[in-house]
Amino acid sequence: MSGLFLRTLREDPADAEVISHKLLVRAGYVRRVAPGIYSWLPLGMKVLERVEAIIRDEMDRIGGQEVHFPALLPREPYEATGRWTEYGPALFRLKDRKGADYLLGPTHEELFTLMVKGETSSYRDFPVTLYQIQNKYRDEERPRAGILRGREFVMKDSYSFDLTDEGLDASYARHREAYLRIFARLGLETQIVSAMSGAMGGSKSEEFLATADSGEDTYVRCPASGYAANVEAVTTPAPPDESVADKPEAVVYDTPDTPTIETLVDHVNGLGLGRTFTAADTLKNVMVKTRLPGAAEWTLLGVGVPGDREVDMKRLEASVAPADVALLEDADFAANPFLTKGYIGPVGLAKNGVRYLVDPRIVTGTAWVTGADEHGRHVVDLVAGRDFTPDGTIEAAEVREGDPSPDGGGTLVAARGIEMGHIFQLGRKYADALGLTALGADGKPATVTMGSYGVGVTRAVAAISEQHADEKGLVWPAEVAPYAVHIVIAGKDPAQAEAATGIADGLAAAGLDVLLDDRKASPGVKFADAELLGMPTTVTVGRGLANGVVEVTDRASGDRREVPLDDVVAELS
Ligand code: ATP
Ligand code: MG
Ligand code: MG
Ligand code: MG
Repeated sequence: MSGLFLRTLREDPADAEVISHKLLVRAGYVRRVAPGIYSWLPLGMKVLERVEAIIRDEMDRIGGQEVHFPALLPREPYEATGRWTEYGPALFRLKDRKGADYLLGPTHEELFTLMVKGETSSYRDFPVTLYQIQNKYRDEERPRAGILRGREFVMKDSYSFDLTDEGLDASYARHREAYLRIFARLGLETQIVSAMSGAMGGSKSEEFLATADSGEDTYVRCPASGYAANVEAVTTPAPPDESVADKPEAVVYDTPDTPTIETLVDHVNGLGLGRTFTAADTLKNVMVKTRLPGAAEWTLLGVGVPGDREVDMKRLEASVAPADVALLEDADFAANPFLTKGYIGPVGLAKNGVRYLVDPRIVTGTAWVTGADEHGRHVVDLVAGRDFTPDGTIEAAEVREGDPSPDGGGTLVAARGIEMGHIFQLGRKYADALGLTALGADGKPATVTMGSYGVGVTRAVAAISEQHADEKGLVWPAEVAPYAVHIVIAGKDPAQAEAATGIADGLAAAGLDVLLDDRKASPGVKFADAELLGMPTTVTVGRGLANGVVEVTDRASGDRREVPLDDVVAELS
């Protein structure tokens, strides 16, 4: 340690909220360079390398082959799949000196697809699984918690390429098993949850969440049935068009090809609803303006729907001036043709500063509102009172503990977790966009089907620290600890230094990594650092040496025991 490039800190960093951030900085594993951007010091590098080694081992075991892509990528492949635009402000975009567009890769589906396209031609070349461990770049809105959510971070991403759906299922299942082994070896307690596929597209998708109160993901679990899902996935609506068309009584409103507020207004005015609307007809939340049969006045309604789920009336009321609200809680929708079918008037919806003109309609028991913003169609499910974003995700806070499990198995409990891994079946989306086909055994070209699988490597280091730490410091699980044994020379007696060096040599000869604290520091400082740095076992060579014993401390349990000097190497190796 006298030569180790390390300086431990007594104080938590001012910007640190979670324990992993505090401890990894204080113990000298990482240092902040800019928001969400960190450097790794020697101790941190050792952990990172061990985590990577475990991941490589398990990826190789399922037949994955390692490749490496640049992080600096041209725009064109991402343009072809639409992600140059769709990825939004999280994409780091830049120009070269000639003005050509580049990006820093946030994830590499496009590049892997193109690589496989270049190197394969027929069914004989498949299936194939490729992976890389590489820096990713995402301009996260809220980089937080140190390396837990970085703007530059290391990810293991792998991709499977199959010719058949069954092949994809098998590749997916192999990754799922590999991930279970990886997280077990990393010492991470994880929960597998169903997940949304988000911006990647695709169908089957699961996340591995490390259980932690500091996690940003909320998941629900049904203890009785074993059902578990990220809250984003619990009430995922079907895509807008399907869900409306699925309802037998739905009146499907065809939006103009490129709807704008103005064209929607024109369209709705053409329906002859008895009033002319303007683009300025906006409301703050999901409300419906209508003239009830027989009524002389137009009325602003909060739509209440009889059924198994109550509209969150409080939220509706809070969002508009009370005087404007008339609640229609007990309307007999089935008996009222005006309400069960047909338009009940156009209204506007403003959310997060984006204004939508919405086309409300009511089908039996369910009210749907569809509209459009610059991303395309937008759906609001009035029965749940939830707003769905254009990619189909919902706001997490809307799913509550105590809700019935969607599988009917019982009641849900909620907890928080850190997304450590994400596996999903992409299907043929990327292969279609980039023209990845292979000649089948029948001589006909077939489009390849893909899976995509990610593990947060730097995030894993932080998540392990979240789960394995106490008020004194880090507590590394054996497989990822920078050193297996930390030897403290407690006093100034040269015999202690000599004995400690002998133990270190013996353990090293047995293949263990050893950290020897040979600094000229007080025993108190050395013990505090040993606890802060978190190696699994500490050997203290102190006064007991006069009686031929050293002290062995287990960092996790705190158990101490005296061991004869002559036995200690054999016992620990
Ligand atoms: P999150 O929901 O936390 O933003 P994500 O769903 O955007 O993550 P994926 O695109 O699924 O992430 O990437 C695969 C894995 O990469 C994640 O499961 C996570 O472990 C890791 N990861 C994603 N974003 C970050 C980040 N900003 N910093 C560190 N690791 C990350
Ligand atoms: Mg993300
Ligand atoms: Mg996620
Ligand atoms: Mg994810």
